[in-house]
Order: sequence, then C-alpha cells, then structure tokens
Amino acid sequence: MYCQFCGKEHADYVSFCPYCGMQVNKGETCGEQIPVDPIADKEKDDFGGEVLKFGILGLAFACSGLLSLLGLIFSIIARAKANEFARRYGDTEGRATVGKHLGKAGLIVSIVITAYFALIFVLAFLGMLTGAETLM
Ligand SMILES: [Zn+2]
Repeated sequence: MYCQFCGKEHADYVSFCPYCGMQVNKGETCGEQIPVDPIADKEKDDFGGEVLKFGILGLAFACSGLLSLLGLIFSIIARAKANEFARRYGDTEGRATVGKHLGKAGLIVSIVITAYFALIFVLAFLGMLTGAETLM
C-alpha cells in the first residue's frame, strides 16, 4: 500500500505512515494496532540516550576515587531517569536498560569508594586527635 500523503510504500496493516506519520488506515483492518508515531519514538530514543549518558557518568565518576561522590549523584539521576522511562513506556529497553544497569553499578561502586574515603578521613582525623594528645 502506498501512503496517500507522501507516496512512499508501507505495510498494509499500519495505522500511521512510518515515513510522514500521517494516519493512513482509519480502523478498516481488524486486530489490535499500535500506531507508529515517529515523534514519540524519537523522544523515547532520546530519553533512552539520556539515561545511558547519566549511567556512564555515574559509573565513570564512581570509579574515579575522590570524585566518587559525584558518581553517586549521577548514578541516582540515572536510576531516577530509568524509573521515569519505565513509567512512561511500560519498561526500560535498549539504551535505557544499559543506563539503568550502569547507574546501579555506579551506585554500588560510588557508595563503597565514598565510604572508603570517609573511613580514611575519619582515621586520619582520629590520628590527628591522638597525635595532639601525645604532644600535650
Ligand atoms: Zn506518508
């Protein structure tokens, strides 16, 4: 079947032309039809990319040592965006899923490394206190 709006050939069962997004079938064919909306599809893809971006940033900063606290923040953002993605589209998929897992890994790594640095600082601080005591 050819689209009456842009003239490109598309499958008979589609409700919307995959090329121009115009409605080509007005429910004459039977069965459940999922409308193809290129704008919504692009938004979904962009959103998935955003989840992935924060997931990568989260894990990268988490592994960086001193900046792992930043990784914690990015990871939390990645997780929140992945949840938002799942709420909007039913489930995470593609890049959003990768971003979700990277965010999860980033969260764990950043917590461990941040706790490690916090422990070192506490120990150094206690060492300073005991050092000051012995001086007095
Ligand atoms: Zn068309």
